[in-house]
Amino acid sequence: MEGKPECAKCTKLVCTSKQFDQGPPNCPTKTKAEVIKQAAAEYNNPEVREFARQASIQEFECYMNLPEGRTPRNPRVEEVAQFAKKMGYKKLGIAFCVGLRNEAKILTKILENRGFNVVSVCCKAGGIPKETIGIKEEEKIAGPGAFESMCSPITQAEILNGEGAEFNIAVGLCVGHDALFFRYAHAPTTVLIAKDRVFGHNPAAGLYLSGSYYRKLLRKESLDSQS
Ligand code: SF4
Repeated sequence: MEGKPECAKCTKLVCTSKQFDQGPPNCPTKTKAEVIKQAAAEYNNPEVREFARQASIQEFECYMNLPEGRTPRNPRVEEVAQFAKKMGYKKLGIAFCVGLRNEAKILTKILENRGFNVVSVCCKAGGIPKETIGIKEEEKIAGPGAFESMCSPITQAEILNGEGAEFNIAVGLCVGHDALFFRYAHAPTTVLIAKDRVFGHNPAAGLYLSGSYYRKLLRKESLDSQS
């Protein structure tokens, strides 16, 4: 039986070349031929094809070939605006965490300055109490007895759906809340900011420091142990 794909452990990366058959035994480029064929066929859908084509052009335009070498040039926020423009979107939705409301405000200004119609919805919109989803008093951030409205990514998604947002931008949604938003949003969604309360919304920093100051991230534990 073929092994599960583990591209993250691969040292060959022949999928970036034409030597497709030289990968490890569990290389999905070799073992998942039928899935790959079906996936490639999806790009025959004109809408999907155009989305993928513009995304690829966006990727291309993020580099400059200078005499000293290839150099990146666009911060992600610039990329988001450029891609939305390429796609011809007029109305953009921002789903943001209340803790990043200032970032959402700045992003709105940047996008409005480029001519977009921007609609934004905070995670707490609706003020639905946390008790609604079974949160106990001792599980409230402000402590027992406090009123806490829950983050409701479904509310955010449905409001943006109703407003006719053509493209959504997630700004600092919590882990899990973001996944729910992606599930319920009708328009495609990109992420501008992935929340990381410790590393200033740069989750990659945890990986970069896992060989030094955050070595504890590599500890071994079982799925059954308490987190
Ligand atoms: S597709 Fe194959 S060659 Fe590419 S990273 Fe995965 S295992 Fe390696």
